Amino acid sequence: MSLDQLAATISGSLVLPGSADFDGARLYHGRAGDPAAVAHVGGVDDVVAAVGAAREERLPVAIRGGGHSNWESLPGALVIDLRALREVVVDQDAAPTADGARLVHVGGGATWGEVAEELARHGLAISSGDTRSVGVGGLTLGAGIGWVVRCWGLALDQLVGAQLVTAGGDVLELSETSYPELFWGVRGGGGNLGVVTRFDFLAHPLTGVVHAAITLDGADLPALIRAFRDVMRAAPRELNGSLMRTPPMGPELPSRTVIELAWAGPDEAAARAAFAPLLGLPQVTASEVAPVAYPDLLQEPPMPPPGMTMPTIVDENGWFESLDDHVIDALVAGAAEAGAPMLLVRWLGGAFGDVAPEATAIGFRRAEAFVMSAAFVPPDGTAEDVARVKAALAPFVEHSVGAYGNFTNSVAPGLPERMYTQPTLARLRALKLEWDRDNLFSRNHNVVPVVG
Ligand SMILES: Cc1cc2nc3c(=O)[nH]c(=O)nc-3n(C[C@H](O)[C@H](O)[C@H](O)COP(=O)(O)OP(=O)(O)OC[C@H]3O[C@@H](n4cnc5c(N)ncnc54)[C@H](O)[C@@H]3O)c2cc1C
Repeated sequence: MSLDQLAATISGSLVLPGSADFDGARLYHGRAGDPAAVAHVGGVDDVVAAVGAAREERLPVAIRGGGHSNWESLPGALVIDLRALREVVVDQDAAPTADGARLVHVGGGATWGEVAEELARHGLAISSGDTRSVGVGGLTLGAGIGWVVRCWGLALDQLVGAQLVTAGGDVLELSETSYPELFWGVRGGGGNLGVVTRFDFLAHPLTGVVHAAITLDGADLPALIRAFRDVMRAAPRELNGSLMRTPPMGPELPSRTVIELAWAGPDEAAARAAFAPLLGLPQVTASEVAPVAYPDLLQEPPMPPPGMTMPTIVDENGWFESLDDHVIDALVAGAAEAGAPMLLVRWLGGAFGDVAPEATAIGFRRAEAFVMSAAFVPPDGTAEDVARVKAALAPFVEHSVGAYGNFTNSVAPGLPERMYTQPTLARLRALKLEWDRDNLFSRNHNVVPVVG
């Protein structure tokens, strides 16, 4: 099917360069791409038609769920925009599990804000990301470290089924018993294996959360990270938390160091007891503790104005099985050398580590922490500036067991080799050879279809 035929066929719309809507269609979260066309699909049949047109016109496909990645801004792709597929339905025909979890169907283009709002009406939640506009698609298929990761695992650990449109145009129902190898692969393989038009999750009962924001004097950052680590290592799995240092962003936004905690449950006394060791740190300068509804945990950072020339984000990250003192020292020293970048330490363990490494395509289940460091090189910076900052940030990742693809938009060759263990990558490549030999779905952290 040609693009002209696609335009005439789909219930949604196809936006082509030169049309009045094109500038709006190619702009997402402040980034303008240069696609061959944008297909706003209205349903599964439209997705099948769009995939068929991409195949015939030999165009790479860029899948847009929540639209927070960079790949669709690379030129020349057919963007398949799934935003119309955003229904969230609690399945009334499926019985709750023994612990009260319910089956929920979520459209492939929904965002986590939409999911959290709808599930809260039923007293349910899925551990997802921390941002309302982030897509269920990108976050889940790449892993999904959420606020309650220590209780319920990654977002993909809560997935029990999916509807997938393959490169060949087949519409498959995936689960542990139906196309189990593909189901294994989509749980961590990103958008490499096709377009997920529907996610089936088990959502957990959750009537409330207790949240703490603790602001700290970050002058001795290594000591602070060590203290956070030591408390979290001994914490019950209901306690989830991250430590973040943000760089100064102008005179009114100085550098800040904040520990955010979420207690999975409404019991404020239990939460305060778990928070106490961190609230009592000598570096604390301010703190707020409050019960919140789960959707209110999700935030929305301000987006840059359309057309603004953005700095280059240089980032490094890793999964760490043991966040030892020398790793912390390398992290903080590299950050200082790179010029006050952003640091994030997100604590894992608990349910994240209950999952066998080979059960999904995210294998680093012995990691106790995920850590990232990022710096901004101004728009007038040179390639040498970027290389210098990257070299300064990099040393701490030598101690990691792998990288988390969702937290970088880098398209550097060799990244998939760090994102996956060698056996996982071999399995994903075999799936790619079987289901997407021509690499139609290449605008992602690409698993190239080769043997081995
Ligand atoms: C502000 C912000 C906060 C974040 N917070 C977190 C966090 O707390 N935890 C965390 O783990 N990550 C977090 N992330 C990272 C996030 O998981 C990734 O950026 C993710 O790729 C975003 O997904 P998206 O659907 O919004 O983006 P998109 O650009 O739409 O999708 C990214 C890629 O995912 C694939 N994809 C998306 N939807 C589908 C689908 N339905 N079928 C097949 N493939 C699909 C495609 O390959 C696509 O290129 C955050 C990112 C941002 C920008």
